[in-house]
Amino acid sequence: MYQLSGDLQNFSVDKIADLKNKRIVLRACLNVTVDKEGKVIDATRIDESIKTIKYLAENAKQVTILAHLGRPESYSKELSFWNVHQVLQEKLGQEIEFVLFQNSPKNLEAKIILGDNIRFFKEEESKDPDTRMNFAKDLAQFGEVFVNDAFADYRESASTYDIAKILPSYLGYKFIEEVEALSKFSNAANLVSVLGGAKLSEKLDALKALAEISEKVVIGGAMAYTLLKAKGVNIGNSLYEEDKLSLAKEILNNYENKLVLPVDHLIASEFNEVASKSAHVTLDEQVPDNTVAIDIGSKTTELFVQTISGAKNILWNGPMGVFEWETSAAGTLAVGKAISQNSSAYKLAGGGDSIAAINKLGLTGFNHISTGGGAMLAFIAYNEFPTLDIVINQ
Ligand code: AMP
Repeated sequence: MYQLSGDLQNFSVDKIADLKNKRIVLRACLNVTVDKEGKVIDATRIDESIKTIKYLAENAKQVTILAHLGRPESYSKELSFWNVHQVLQEKLGQEIEFVLFQNSPKNLEAKIILGDNIRFFKEEESKDPDTRMNFAKDLAQFGEVFVNDAFADYRESASTYDIAKILPSYLGYKFIEEVEALSKFSNAANLVSVLGGAKLSEKLDALKALAEISEKVVIGGAMAYTLLKAKGVNIGNSLYEEDKLSLAKEILNNYENKLVLPVDHLIASEFNEVASKSAHVTLDEQVPDNTVAIDIGSKTTELFVQTISGAKNILWNGPMGVFEWETSAAGTLAVGKAISQNSSAYKLAGGGDSIAAINKLGLTGFNHISTGGGAMLAFIAYNEFPTLDIVINQ
């Protein structure tokens, strides 16, 4: 668990001296949900970035906004900011100059500038520190001060980390809000972590670290099936990750007493919504051949709800089943309710799919809902948070 030392307000954008004469490089989180054309279909992250952008747009000499979208290999229209630019401009009520950084930065005089998806540049996430640092130096030419408001983009990259070694650095409102809320969790005694979602691989590191500090780790969703298969349980045609089986075995051996896995399942004959309507619950933990698990079963729901009810701190990331389909939303709904209705616990939820499930199922009562799923897990799981440390230890 990250231990915050000192007052983050000292690093707030509010504290930048002589702001009206400063050009600011702002790293925002604009990693919104887009459709196949790149049209924004969920603007939550834009909404959350507006406060810092507005403050800088009104008070600084110039602000250049950097951000990423998805995981592009190279340029694609779908992951370009053409529509993010329009939506951001509308919400801000001011004109924003949209540029690709191949255009010479020194000629840009607009008050507010948005660079296209920073991950179109391979240097942004290069494994070679020199390459990343050289790219950060290019980015640093856009201003005299760096502001990081992208809490969710917690991995070290040129625009989230290296640039903070070059310019005096501050934190945006969203970043501070997330860290302050998560820090309330700091004495994470009697912690129950509830993990779900599609991929074990994306949560493996956090899972190990969370297992160390949690009393119990409840695991549902497709990620449970890699663990169940590693345990020797028949999982039928359920989604799992073959290349993660040996790591899954290791986790099972090391944290046997902490993991709470499904003991029955809601199964369908095929993985589609029509088939889901005639789904039924298995008798035990085995998933019969030629069937696929789409949600946790009733015994599992009871077991998970019971485990959650005794917790004093609860961390939730990821749905328990395919909550997008009516029949297989029940597990996520029951577990989500058990979390939100545990009145004596501090309850944190986070990540895109958990937020979608919370909204869809109308769950209320969380102490904090973090838009950064991976970032939230990393904050709770580890002692360091590099993109924050680099700013407060400069
Ligand atoms: P993630 O993005 O890793 O949090 O995964 C969220 C997705 O996992 C949601 O779209 C769910 O529909 C999906 N999911 C949850 N449980 C299952 C399951 N048993 N089989 C397949 N997909 C699942």
